[in-house]
Amino acid sequence: MTKQIAIIGGGPAGLMAAEVLSAAGHAVTVYEAMPTFGRKFLLAGKSGLNITHSEDFSSFAERFGNASPRLRPALEAFTPDDVRAWAAGLGTETFVGTSGRVFPKAMKASPLLRAWLRRLEAQGVTLSTRHRWVGFAENGYRFETPEGPVTVRPDAALLALGGASWPRLGSDAAWVPWLRDKGIVIADLRPANCGFDVAWSEAFRERFAGEPLKSVSTTSGAGIFPGEFVVSKHGIEGSLVYAHSAALRDRLVAEGRAALTVDLTPGRTAERLARDLARQDAKASFSNRLRKGAGLEGVKAALLRELVPDASRMAPQELAEQIKALQIPVLRPRPIAEAISSAGGIAWSDLDENYMLKPLTGLFAAGEMLDWEAPTGGYLLTACLATGRSAAHGLGAWLDSQ
Ligand SMILES: Cc1cc2nc3c(=O)[nH]c(=O)nc-3n(C[C@H](O)[C@H](O)[C@H](O)COP(=O)(O)OP(=O)(O)OC[C@H]3O[C@@H](n4cnc5c(N)ncnc54)[C@H](O)[C@@H]3O)c2cc1C
Repeated sequence: MTKQIAIIGGGPAGLMAAEVLSAAGHAVTVYEAMPTFGRKFLLAGKSGLNITHSEDFSSFAERFGNASPRLRPALEAFTPDDVRAWAAGLGTETFVGTSGRVFPKAMKASPLLRAWLRRLEAQGVTLSTRHRWVGFAENGYRFETPEGPVTVRPDAALLALGGASWPRLGSDAAWVPWLRDKGIVIADLRPANCGFDVAWSEAFRERFAGEPLKSVSTTSGAGIFPGEFVVSKHGIEGSLVYAHSAALRDRLVAEGRAALTVDLTPGRTAERLARDLARQDAKASFSNRLRKGAGLEGVKAALLRELVPDASRMAPQELAEQIKALQIPVLRPRPIAEAISSAGGIAWSDLDENYMLKPLTGLFAAGEMLDWEAPTGGYLLTACLATGRSAAHGLGAWLDSQ
């Protein structure tokens, strides 16, 4: 007899699970709270849809922190090359950008999502929007719909409800207490790939919010990364900051303070910079000495003055050291609602290797709601797609064993 499967959450993880299970001949319904599917996926498309990464697989599979070993089988079963082949199968050819990141040639998500939803419908998947899961019922799941409450009692179910970033797109983490009530361990959801608040002076904020700091090098516990970031009215943001965000966030928790170290002149050693500064006319203004001696002006010079108020009185050697290792103290991560993704989620200890919630037989989970995090670079979507597939295979195998 055909088994009834409920997939709750219609983002990349849930839709991928629906694809696998419907292809295996099951009757699949995807329940989505919002009026349309994949809203965060579409938003990711606004910045080009970095769908995966082309680096060698052994590096790729290590980008998921402590969760890397647990995610590895899912990633091996659906590698970055498989992601590209899958997208091509839906009419979306991809290319490798200069950074190794992979994007659709169309640089957006909508054609891929449209083709995907069409294929799912052709495979017999029932796509139910405006069905908000609101908790468990006896042997089932309760939903709110425009027509009133509905309870479904499928043979098996899969949760793919996402994390907690950008809640207005649908992933609002309302599920956390419901699963905790069932005894599932959930690591608190925390902002990941996020900006930080910095106590800018009013004058600096007003003059420089929105300005990029280009061609700098930045250091934290995460490592040394070159690139650019942006001064925001709250603090700092941009992909270079996101690369450090997990390290800065965790240090703030562990030690109560953290700083991003910025090298404003990565092309010059401190010695060379000190020599260049020492050659400047001592009677020239500090701005001129900085501009001619260090090539610093605009937001870079202002950042130095903001963070090192007595910089103008420093000797060349000391000044060079500050310019090469400027400390930006961060106060706190920006709110999770603004983050690209969230860390935390369902603990791996409560998931078996088939992505079934150990205390809740017949209920599986996938995607960002699991306890892993990764930098930007296509890692997030790849892991959501890969865990959606693995959880679907696990669910199918579990049904077969019943
Ligand atoms: C601005 C931005 C840019 C991004 N860019 C990239 C990128 O370029 N590359 C990349 O790899 N990643 C990117 N990401 C991250 C990526 O989009 C997410 O990691 C991914 O969408 C998570 O997939 P998911 O299926 O687990 O969850 P989601 O995509 O969040 O989907 C979960 C779905 O579940 C639904 N849902 C939630 N609660 C309920 C409920 N109670 N009942 C029914 N349905 C519910 C939601 O409405 C949603 O549709 C970006 C994220 C943001 C915010």
